[in-house]
Amino acid sequence: MINMFANATVKLTLIYMGILTLICLFFSYNWYTIATAELDRSLDRQKNSINVIKERPRFFNPDDAEDEDFIQELVEEAEQRYEEAKGAVLSRIVASNVIIVSAGTLGAYFLARRTLEPIEAAHQEQIRFTADASHELRTPLTAMKTEIEVALRDKKLSKAEAVELLHSNIEELAKLSTLSEGLLKLARQDESVGIKFEKVSLDAIIQKAVDRVEKPAKHKQITLVQEVSDAKVSADFDSITEMLVILLDNAVKYSPKKTKVAITTHETKNHITVSVHDSGIGVRASDKERIFERFYRADNSRSSQNAKGHGLGLSIAKNISDIHDARISVQSDGADTGSTFTFRLKKV
Ligand code: ADP
Repeated sequence: MINMFANATVKLTLIYMGILTLICLFFSYNWYTIATAELDRSLDRQKNSINVIKERPRFFNPDDAEDEDFIQELVEEAEQRYEEAKGAVLSRIVASNVIIVSAGTLGAYFLARRTLEPIEAAHQEQIRFTADASHELRTPLTAMKTEIEVALRDKKLSKAEAVELLHSNIEELAKLSTLSEGLLKLARQDESVGIKFEKVSLDAIIQKAVDRVEKPAKHKQITLVQEVSDAKVSADFDSITEMLVILLDNAVKYSPKKTKVAITTHETKNHITVSVHDSGIGVRASDKERIFERFYRADNSRSSQNAKGHGLGLSIAKNISDIHDARISVQSDGADTGSTFTFRLKKV
């Protein structure tokens, strides 16, 4: 892969150089033609002046061999100066071309690198993403395969054990289904499919999101507290609801039982900021940026074992935030101190 980009850099450099060389040749040819035409005219003028002397009997005696030699010398001198001037023009043009093309080659290489760098970075990101996605897909598939193989080899498999196996398989399938949904959302977001900015009510978004997390919150006896003011905002209703659901879902997921998750809003002149605060496991300073990366899950021993997930939620939220310029961020004083996720929306 590295080779592919090295080759592309060389090719692009050669193309840039080729274009530069063609431009240089074009201008050089024109300069040379103009300069030599000027020199030709100058030589003709000098020869004419010399011929004028020949027509003046006071200065030139046609029978005098010395006079004839003198005139001949003048003509030869003019012709020699003409050849020298032509040579000087040519060597200057060649020298300038060598300098321009050499400097241009360096410039072309840097330009080629700059052109290809973001493509290479995107390509690397794609490779990493595919590897991470395959890994996430393989884990539940391997678990299912192993369980089924063990069950098939067991001649005395009871009905109860078979039912247990099916339950376990359904759990793994649910994980796969969540994962594929997440992957699909990310893929669609990359193309900003179906995003429509409208004037929507923030309160309606909050109520819809709260409805969607009520069940898991109830399951952990977590109270959802709202201290919100309504405002009309410019947003895509479904994606902002989705982002809020991700934050609320995480807040519930990473909080101990019987705690509170609070949704608050704060208005400024042009924006309204929404915060989701929990009293859960918190986010360490070193994880604050990384948790928004695809497949990143902070400290396996603290979160992954206890809470289900693939590390896609916050990267989906970050994409939605970027589309809305909502500046999603997390504030937390570290492990077990709770965390507050905030984003802002433009008021209309
Ligand atoms: P998932 O929850 O599926 O692991 P996310 O992308 O939603 O994926 O979150 C990434 C990581 O960020 C989580 O694994 C967790 O470590 C951390 N995280 C997210 N929300 C919270 C929260 N409210 N409190 C503490 N940690 C959180």
